[in-house]
Amino acid sequence: SSILSNVLPAPEDPVLSVIFACRDDPCPVKLNVSAGAYRTEEGKPLVLEVVRKAEQQLANDLSCDKGYLPIDGLADFNKLSAKLTLGDDSHAVEENRVVTIQCLSAITGFLSVHLRAPGYAKWSGGREAAHVNTPRPVPNPTWGNHPFIFTLAGLCVEYFRYYDPQTRGLDFEGMLEDLGAAPSGAIVVLQSCAHNPTGIDPTLEQWEKIRQIVRSKGLLPFFDNAYQVRCTTTFAFGNLDSDAQSVRMFVADGGECLIAQSFAKNMGLYGERIGALTIVCTSQDVARKVHSQVLLVVRPMYLSPPIHGASIVTTILKNSDMYKDWTIELKGMADRIISMRQQLYEAIQARGTPGDWTHIIKQIGMFSFTGLNEKQVRWMAKEYHIYMTYDGRISIASLSSKTVPQLADAIHAAVT
Ligand code: PLP
Repeated sequence: SSILSNVLPAPEDPVLSVIFACRDDPCPVKLNVSAGAYRTEEGKPLVLEVVRKAEQQLANDLSCDKGYLPIDGLADFNKLSAKLTLGDDSHAVEENRVVTIQCLSAITGFLSVHLRAPGYAKWSGGREAAHVNTPRPVPNPTWGNHPFIFTLAGLCVEYFRYYDPQTRGLDFEGMLEDLGAAPSGAIVVLQSCAHNPTGIDPTLEQWEKIRQIVRSKGLLPFFDNAYQVRCTTTFAFGNLDSDAQSVRMFVADGGECLIAQSFAKNMGLYGERIGALTIVCTSQDVARKVHSQVLLVVRPMYLSPPIHGASIVTTILKNSDMYKDWTIELKGMADRIISMRQQLYEAIQARGTPGDWTHIIKQIGMFSFTGLNEKQVRWMAKEYHIYMTYDGRISIASLSSKTVPQLADAIHAAVT
């Protein structure tokens, strides 16, 4: 007899099903623009030169061992990661009211808070039941894993308005209204920059209004900082500080704030699973208590985080020459993404495709939220062997001059 034969198949996961469909497609010219990972002009994954250099340095350093890291990770990594997000002169850091722990990329930052709701409730003064049932507002739409993580943890998720399909821009009034209606004490998930999937961020003035409403309603902001890589023409790329402005506004007001930070995209360390969770508290005493709870969450989950990615990041952030080399490589990646946006836009224009496609060059970050609907997306997969997520999001970072015409042909055919 088999116990496992009673296992029911999981419901179809829309993201995984795109990946599997592409993998199983035998067409030699299939194109996968679904994944949020940078590719070179030749369509290859990129390992940054500075990362190779850091790895060589680590390999030659005989004092580096492979022992367990402390439960909260590499101390220098935590310090430098917090500095990258909060800035060199953060009062919160100076006042010792910041807790940072190394995580398995950005995602564990969320897991560590949410999978253990009782732990979180202890942090928030024992209001356990209230917090388990309190909605966690997330933007509509948002990165697919946000609601997934919270739902899996048995927590309640609510969407606040974010994207307006009419204007293909931010539904700012709707967002403020929904945040204003959220129950006090709820965690609100915000993406610090280069919003996935829409590529639309609030302006600094809008961030200020969001900050005011979050604070006046007593909400707890939880920033997902997965793309601290400014990919616009309006900012000098490689200036990581400009990407962190939204977070820093919230930290500057002295209030509480959580930040899940990832080095997947900005150092190309996707598979190293390296990131950090930073929790800004109102006092050193609160920080100490929060830190003790976070350790309790980590211990049964993975006991101790992996060492390699943390060592790479620390080596780069510690060394001013390497740091500079990193920002130069970042600029190279961003310039290529910006050029792909422009090329795709021009290719669509050249085909006389109906509709306004300026959003492709106005949006920022790795993605373009094209406005294509699920029917069109499925049709393009079937007829053109091009794979994107069903919400019409494409990864601009995976395009090249060679594949842009193929995508533009498919888009043209899908909408005419
Ligand atoms: N958050 C957002 C908004 C993302 O888009 C992604 C990745 O696509 C992540 C988090 C996950 O990043 P990581 O690989 O660091 O877990």
